[in-house]
Amino acid sequence: MGDSYDAIVIGAGVVGVSIAFHLAERGLKPVILERKEIACGATGRSSGLVRMHYALEAEARLAWISFQYFHDWQARVGGECGFTRTGFLYIDVPAHDTQVRANVETHKRIGISSEIVSAADVKRIAPAFTTGDFSIAAYEPESGYADPVLTSNSFLAAAKARGAVYFQDCEVTGISSTAGKVTGVETSRGKYSAPVIVNAAGAWAGPLGLMVGIKLPLDTWTHDVAHLRRPEEIGEHPTVIDSALSMYFRPDTGGLTLVALEDNNRLGEAPDSDMAYVARDFVQRAVDRICQRMPAMEKGSLQSTHVGRDGLTPDQRAILGSAGPQGYYLATGFSGTGFKTSPAVGLCMAELIVDGASRTMDISSFGLDRFERGQLLKGEHDYGNIWR
Ligand SMILES: Cc1cc2nc3c(=O)[nH]c(=O)nc-3n(C[C@H](O)[C@H](O)[C@H](O)COP(=O)(O)OP(=O)(O)OC[C@H]3O[C@@H](n4cnc5c(N)ncnc54)[C@H](O)[C@@H]3O)c2cc1C
Repeated sequence: MGDSYDAIVIGAGVVGVSIAFHLAERGLKPVILERKEIACGATGRSSGLVRMHYALEAEARLAWISFQYFHDWQARVGGECGFTRTGFLYIDVPAHDTQVRANVETHKRIGISSEIVSAADVKRIAPAFTTGDFSIAAYEPESGYADPVLTSNSFLAAAKARGAVYFQDCEVTGISSTAGKVTGVETSRGKYSAPVIVNAAGAWAGPLGLMVGIKLPLDTWTHDVAHLRRPEEIGEHPTVIDSALSMYFRPDTGGLTLVALEDNNRLGEAPDSDMAYVARDFVQRAVDRICQRMPAMEKGSLQSTHVGRDGLTPDQRAILGSAGPQGYYLATGFSGTGFKTSPAVGLCMAELIVDGASRTMDISSFGLDRFERGQLLKGEHDYGNIWR
């Protein structure tokens, strides 16, 4: 075997570099192996929303732990993450009011700054919005968005400063095990050995599961995003998940608004298939939707579009934990929502690997075995699957 490390992390998306950072903080010497370059997968296409409103308490807790990193990035990690506080609104159809209220209660109990606001309050927070189709919303005044590429680079720099090693253009092509324990990997650059291997390969995680005999229940989710130039009269607006209109949107620098849709995402495309263009009718649907919520956007214009892809699980929630041979770990299947939780995922995975269990919070419900047991994750006050 070639060079030897304490752990091999496969994939330099935000999840892989967060895990490597936290392992290095715990005194391990990990190597991160990336087939292309940092943040070239879902991370580099991510919309970067940082909010804590989830229907599943465990996800809200991961987001809350992570929020404290984004809020205090310099001190906690170093470098920049580009966190921009805009305030966050969760808007949904009146039929979901009971769930919204119950989820906000849960979030407050966790310590998250969240409150129920009326449609009239929303009009005060965001005067450009129409508010006739909902009665209440959840409001997180401290939330906003961050820059996933900056975040990843900061995690990587901080990991390297603590002894981690990084190889780009290094594709893992095989995983070796002896007597039920992982021993190392084969790559396009040669062999590396370690007693711990973490599959953080996003939409490409499936083949890396098969290398240790595990078939992951992973599909792909392909998601279109538009940046629109906002007319000046709208001014600033908060970050919003607008499930009443099946979309989310947030402000971006340079007077832009990022818009994406919850419906008609493309499922099951090959991980490496073409992502050059958004779907044929996407721009029209996105513009129609945002103009329903902000009619003044009629005077806006299209700035750009892009496409991104993530791994999707049957319950649209991540797979975290050990599986297969001893020393093999999974942190994948983030189903289009894994940026905002990546700091906590890195912390909890490092605790699992180093201490044998995650101390900060219990992540065992995210284990791969839930699919075999038929115990798919569902929010305590669920809204149904996000992506349709
Ligand atoms: C368009 C879009 C918008 C999103 N918006 C949000 C949002 O607003 N908020 C939010 O929280 N989340 C959002 N997400 C989800 C979030 O971005 C992802 O869940 C997260 O970035 C996943 O990170 P990752 O590290 O698991 O995967 P990735 O970033 O995909 O990284 C996986 C890496 O593994 C590498 N790799 C694969 N195979 C191999 C191999 N054999 N050897 C070596 N390396 C390999 C890949 O090249 C890749 O760099 C969005 C995702 C997309 C696509």
